[in-house]
Amino acid sequence: METLKADVVVVGAGSGGLSAALAAAQGGARVIVFEKLPMPGGYSLMAEGIFAAESIIQERDYIGVTKEEAFKNHMNSTHWCANGRLVRAFIEKSASSIDWVMQLGVKFSKVLTLWPGGPRTWHMMEGGGKALVEALAKSAKEKGVSIFTTTPAKKLLIDENNRVSGIIAQEKDGNDIQVDTPVVIIAGGSYANNKEWIDKYTDLQFEPISIVPMQQTGDHIQMAWDAGAALDGMGVMMAIPAVPGERPTSHLWAAAVQPLLWINKLGERFCDESLGFYFPIAANALAKQKDGVMYTIFDENSKRMLIEHGTDVSLGVFVPVTTKLDQLDAEIQKGVAEGKAFVENSLETLAKKIDVQPKILQKTVHEINQAFEENEDNIFAKNHKYLQPIKKEPFYAVKCTFHIFTTLGGIKINHKTEVLDKGLNVIPGLYAVGNCAGGMYGWDYDVFTTGGALGFAVNAGRIAAENALEYNK
Ligand SMILES: Cc1cc2nc3c(=O)[nH]c(=O)nc-3n(C[C@H](O)[C@H](O)[C@H](O)COP(=O)(O)OP(=O)(O)OC[C@H]3O[C@@H](n4cnc5c(N)ncnc54)[C@H](O)[C@@H]3O)c2cc1C
Repeated sequence: METLKADVVVVGAGSGGLSAALAAAQGGARVIVFEKLPMPGGYSLMAEGIFAAESIIQERDYIGVTKEEAFKNHMNSTHWCANGRLVRAFIEKSASSIDWVMQLGVKFSKVLTLWPGGPRTWHMMEGGGKALVEALAKSAKEKGVSIFTTTPAKKLLIDENNRVSGIIAQEKDGNDIQVDTPVVIIAGGSYANNKEWIDKYTDLQFEPISIVPMQQTGDHIQMAWDAGAALDGMGVMMAIPAVPGERPTSHLWAAAVQPLLWINKLGERFCDESLGFYFPIAANALAKQKDGVMYTIFDENSKRMLIEHGTDVSLGVFVPVTTKLDQLDAEIQKGVAEGKAFVENSLETLAKKIDVQPKILQKTVHEINQAFEENEDNIFAKNHKYLQPIKKEPFYAVKCTFHIFTTLGGIKINHKTEVLDKGLNVIPGLYAVGNCAGGMYGWDYDVFTTGGALGFAVNAGRIAAENALEYNK
């Protein structure tokens, strides 16, 4: 078996791993990165924007979200299930990480939020996560970091003093490679593609769909557990209601998350549909419905409004707020052929098409029409400005199901990103960052800290590198 030496080995070349690798190399360390896929990037390639508070971009745009506000918002909305010291460390670093990636050539367009008046923390990168990953990988290579692709890390080596002493990975040709190193930073991302674990660690009563099938199976998390790491945050997810098989630019998906009428398989409303603004919270409500399925119901007038006046709720930068859904008619037609959109001239036939009792759908539609007339939703208290009647045929239904963007936990760490064992003792030399680390969230993705998942990867990566450099001194 080939044996190499390094000061720091990083598992996973997403934004978390590459940030850790680059920051460690900038501090003078010899760094090796193992990436199991043929190219770097992971889910970071798909992200649109990154969290920061008090950044130069926010200053430029007169956006006054302070670190303190961001911290309080995050801790309150996670009900202090998150690790306050870790969250504070991440938020404190976030503005400097914007400067750091700008120095690598990343450009920011604007800073967004998810809902009207929400905290604007979501820093949109020109070229999205792909541009960030490319900039990090290029700078890391220039600093001498070796990135081995198609080389999954398999086993941590721990010495008799319980310290990290090395790691074994499997090279492209199937042979093992060993690196003797005092530091391993695990940044292997989520386990969103591990059906068994999703079933085991969540209370979902159905099989969710992963938005990006990418071999995110959690083998790196298992590797840390096998070395004695404690579990943290298993079952926590960033989820969203989505139309199966649709891309984020889809006008059909965009229509389905508008605050129209949402019903479950029983034909009943189950939430205030303006939860569409806060996608992870909408997903929480959907998670409790039969099979994780909902239908968005609207009439010809509402459809015309979406085409002529545009949307209230965005699909990130892909379908921004106020987008006129000019592709909606064509996508509905395609959706009908694919069995996820339905168009009928009566509510009765629409109900039959989606397998709901016609009387129940008619009652639900009557309720929403009455709420519109009375200007008050006395069931779910939806803001009256989003109440729309369902009167003019044809009537439409679009199917949405519970989808996972990513999972948000696995390995227990402290505020220095050091991995902890079950007795909460540090495993010296072992760090974990990004989607595979617990402690950043409570039960779900926090909407107040929009961009926080990518932000946590980058900032925790930098924090891990700083602490690893200190450890290696
Ligand atoms: C469609 C989509 C859009 C998103 N948009 C946003 C957004 O706008 N803002 C935001 O904050 N978050 C967003 N997220 C979430 C965000 O992308 C992730 O939270 C973030 O990228 C996680 O970074 P990471 O470095 O932890 O993991 P990843 O970027 O997934 O990288 C992990 C890497 O580790 C590799 N790996 C795994 N196991 C091993 C192993 N054993 N050996 C070697 N390598 C291994 C993987 O192949 C992968 O390349 C989005 C997610 C998706 C799917």
